[in-house]
Amino acid sequence: MRVFKFGGASVKDYKAVINVGEILRLHQDENLVVIVSAMGKTTNALEAIIASFSKQNHAETERLIDELKKFHHIIIQDLGLDQEPGLLDEIFIIFDGLKEKCQGSFGDYDFEYDQIISLGEILSTKIITNYLQEETNFKTAWVDARKLIRTNDRWREGRVDWEFTENLIQTEINTVFENGNRIAVTQGFIGHEAQGHTTTLGREGSDFTAAIFAYCLNATDVTIWKDVPGMLNADPKYFDNTVLLEKISFKEAIELAYFGASVIHPKTIQPLKRKKIPLLIKSFLNPKEEGTIIQESLAFDDNIPSFIFKMNQTLISLTPRDFSFIVEENLERIFGYLNAQKIRVNLMQNSAVSFSFVVDHSKVNLEKLVSFFKADYLVKYNSNLELVTIRHYDEVTIDRLTVRKDVILEQKSRHTARMVLKDLD
Ligand code: ASP
Ligand code: MG
Repeated sequence: MRVFKFGGASVKDYKAVINVGEILRLHQDENLVVIVSAMGKTTNALEAIIASFSKQNHAETERLIDELKKFHHIIIQDLGLDQEPGLLDEIFIIFDGLKEKCQGSFGDYDFEYDQIISLGEILSTKIITNYLQEETNFKTAWVDARKLIRTNDRWREGRVDWEFTENLIQTEINTVFENGNRIAVTQGFIGHEAQGHTTTLGREGSDFTAAIFAYCLNATDVTIWKDVPGMLNADPKYFDNTVLLEKISFKEAIELAYFGASVIHPKTIQPLKRKKIPLLIKSFLNPKEEGTIIQESLAFDDNIPSFIFKMNQTLISLTPRDFSFIVEENLERIFGYLNAQKIRVNLMQNSAVSFSFVVDHSKVNLEKLVSFFKADYLVKYNSNLELVTIRHYDEVTIDRLTVRKDVILEQKSRHTARMVLKDLD
């Protein structure tokens, strides 16, 4: 049994849904658990509805709900499924329910968020299941992930109860396949807590759902279908000659994610690594191409250097005014502040008497930071910088990347070079 995951872009309109059917046709001979996200930008649209509802702006909320209803209605029409009375009724009941709810009072934000945001995945999976049942000969079952993934009640970022979840998933999915189905369609991103209320796993959480199902079912592998050919060695936005990473280890994927590559969230990798279940990243536009395989072996990791660029960085240096050494006590104070302000440090370095760190410019309130530290530290900062991380670097690539740049700070370990650069202009 294999697990497939289709994200929002892969089901953004009727053509995309038909394409999903085509991909499934290429995999006729195996049982599939198919995890699907909300269609296109539905999750963002639902966030706007929640925000409007929270302000009790009833007219605007209703307008936004109608817009989203129309978006789904058009896809159903374009797929030729509007003659299926059951489907349209079901979809309209969901929107009517949402409208009614939004006429009432608004409770706890994060709780309400999960109850509403989860509808995006319910809608997409209802439509796709119906399409597969009507237009293909695959026996397909709709499975409610809200009943199978058990989390705690930390709304918007539920923590998975693995034992509980494993039991629920195994029982349900085994029954689905024993009943002669070949495809189980279910939702990414959503689950439930002990009282039965809906929870979510955090934005972009559908990849993680795929990993949860694979882990619980001991799947052969997981395939994430994306609009890119696989994992590239750099973001094409910043780099001309990108190369596909055909095969890398779980460990390398986690490292790349840590340094800021917008690949798969480390949360997704961890359960797969534990059971050595390979993760394939493939293009839904060219489904016959190999894509990337992330697996246990480290053997292929250093074939190709990878580049991770972070723009708009600010380097901050703190020097204690009493020239005390940068040791535990100073570090505790500095990190205490960063932690409390939820500021993520992208790179850090210290000398005897100063501590420097790099942060995303947009995520730090410099004024506040300076006023907090200035009594005891000399605070300096330098903005408009670029942080480049090269995995499996060599000197030639470093030279190439630093042309017309001032290297403000540099760190090298055996596999990783990191540089903070400023344009020379
Ligand atoms: N639909 C959710 C989101 O957009 C989950 C996902 O797509 O992974 O964040
Ligand atoms: Mg998505």
